[in-house]
Amino acid sequence: MTKILVVEDEKKVSAFIQQGLHEVGYEVEIVDSPGLARERIKLKKFDLLILDVMLPEMSGMDFAKELRVQGFSGFILMLTALSTTKDKIQGLDSGADDYLTKPFEFEELLARVRALIRRTGDDKAQLKNGELVMDLISRNVSREGVKIELTTKEFSLLEFLMRHLDKVVDRNAIARQVWGTDFDPDSNVIDVYINHLRKKIDSPFPKKLLKTVVGQGYVLNKVE
Ligand code: CA
Repeated sequence: MTKILVVEDEKKVSAFIQQGLHEVGYEVEIVDSPGLARERIKLKKFDLLILDVMLPEMSGMDFAKELRVQGFSGFILMLTALSTTKDKIQGLDSGADDYLTKPFEFEELLARVRALIRRTGDDKAQLKNGELVMDLISRNVSREGVKIELTTKEFSLLEFLMRHLDKVVDRNAIARQVWGTDFDPDSNVIDVYINHLRKKIDSPFPKKLLKTVVGQGYVLNKVE
């Protein structure tokens, strides 16, 4: 699901944006200052920031610059009451991907959000192995056009395997990448999840991709 963070100190505006975007299916959080935004971004990967220019502590433009310096790779849609060409150029130069002038119609905001997210419709946002396709933005997974529902962990596991096609990945690597540090290496949770994943991505199809390499780990075969 696409994750959006709204950084706006005008409660009315942020509530309006949050409600609207939530209704069309985006996961939306709001914060009212760059300081709080910084904390959220540390903890969670957002696909898109809707960033107001007039904020407490520092301007949205300075904040966008700071984020880009730190390597924030999501999209930034800047909101502002300023609408001269100079302001727009400044906004875009500061690292924003697009610019929307207040007051705006919700439909326009939505169109801009959609257009930005569509931009990631390249290989950066999609992992493909033959007819098995993972969309990292919408988090849709399908094989031969059939939609596959995955839990968050199954999705992460498949993503890891898709990034290492034809390479045997061992249980430690999977544990580190998918479960993180609080993982009990003695548990059989990885085997359980591999089985779930196999049922979903392989069982309905004649060609099996996910293999167990006894004593070593697992491999997702590349489709030639
Ligand atoms: Ca504001």
